[in-house]
Amino acid sequence: MSISLNSQTKKALVEILKFSLENPYSDFYRRKYAPLKLKHINEDNIGNIFVSLPLLTKDDLLASPPFDRIFTKIHSPYVISSTSGTTGKGPVIIFINTPSETAEGQLTWGKINAQCGLFLFPPGVQWQLLTTMIRAFPVYIGNPYQMKETAEIASRIKIDTIATTPTALQHFLIFLEPAYDISKIKHILFRGEPLSKAQQTFFRNKFPNAIFNLLYGMREAGQIGVQCDVLSMREEPIYHLRSDKFFIEILPAENEEAGELVLTHLRKDPTLLIRYRTGDLGWFLRDEKCSCELNFPLFKLFGRNRRETIHAGGVVFEAETFNVILKDFLENIQNNFEAHFYQRLIQDKIQYDIVVRVIPKGSVNEMLKIRLEESLNNRLRISNRFSFSELIRQDLFSPIKVEFADPDTQIYKMPLLYKLVSHF
Ligand SMILES: [Zn+2]
Repeated sequence: MSISLNSQTKKALVEILKFSLENPYSDFYRRKYAPLKLKHINEDNIGNIFVSLPLLTKDDLLASPPFDRIFTKIHSPYVISSTSGTTGKGPVIIFINTPSETAEGQLTWGKINAQCGLFLFPPGVQWQLLTTMIRAFPVYIGNPYQMKETAEIASRIKIDTIATTPTALQHFLIFLEPAYDISKIKHILFRGEPLSKAQQTFFRNKFPNAIFNLLYGMREAGQIGVQCDVLSMREEPIYHLRSDKFFIEILPAENEEAGELVLTHLRKDPTLLIRYRTGDLGWFLRDEKCSCELNFPLFKLFGRNRRETIHAGGVVFEAETFNVILKDFLENIQNNFEAHFYQRLIQDKIQYDIVVRVIPKGSVNEMLKIRLEESLNNRLRISNRFSFSELIRQDLFSPIKVEFADPDTQIYKMPLLYKLVSHF
């Protein structure tokens, strides 16, 4: 197997791979790639070699001590950041050189003409965003633990731009709306969580004059995608992917239409990622051209964050809670499933839907679907004391629906790493 690459990409990948293998600071990739016995890497064979490299996962990063994974001489200024930990696993610790992030700042704030901004994130989070924001205009750093006070100050200094998470903004609005004419808000930059369709509609009604700007990134990799003025008006999860910073693969690679986003650094970052599985799904919009001047490819994200746990409606769901019930049906379905989580706006309230996709063995029948749905809705437990059926009674969730997946679709050909998929 091989991939076709242009000469510039070949050159960059050869350089990065050599950098990783000959690295004086870390033997992480030397050890990882040792079984491949790689040698004589050059621009003629990189296409073959690259696709033979094993993928990198978050678990791989977790398994090695943070200081064993630094690939550059650490010099100031740099920052140590971390991902949030998942159940039973710690956070991944990441080292980032701050000067290299200035391009991100230009892309994020270059076009925004703000008078005064509010930065509203928990302490220690989104510091990269903050450092680039304060270079662009005056910024008030709000306190998400004191929303009332933050709203009063924000109204006195007449903010017109907000950088925050959708959840924080929902909460902040309770205090900001009575204190300030929120039609004065011109830009809202969402970061940290995806913005669901339901939230988008909700905020669109509240902020009629604001442009919403979504950033797509993850702590391990920093900024991955940006929205220009044109894309932010479309209000769909379409991004310019940072092809200057990453070599981007979509797996399964045979059909480059939809699949999982896999990233390789094109620059020598302290925390170097090579073929890193993001767990995020999407596809390139190859036939579309954006009218802005950015030369980055267009990518539409869907089913972000395939993972083992999902926070929805104040409750944490784990893949295992679904698995316990579904394994009773292994005579009828394959040992594989995905639970998709959605949000909907109903009047002024956000409701959650869950669709569980399973792959039937043999023919599809309606009775099996009903039995699966009944079992899931009646037996699913959130904790020892708490059952899912109570969440349905409280109107927070609608009853779980079951869908039979076609085993031949691309997505199911790919081994599933995570079984919960968030669509918000
Ligand atoms: Zn654009």
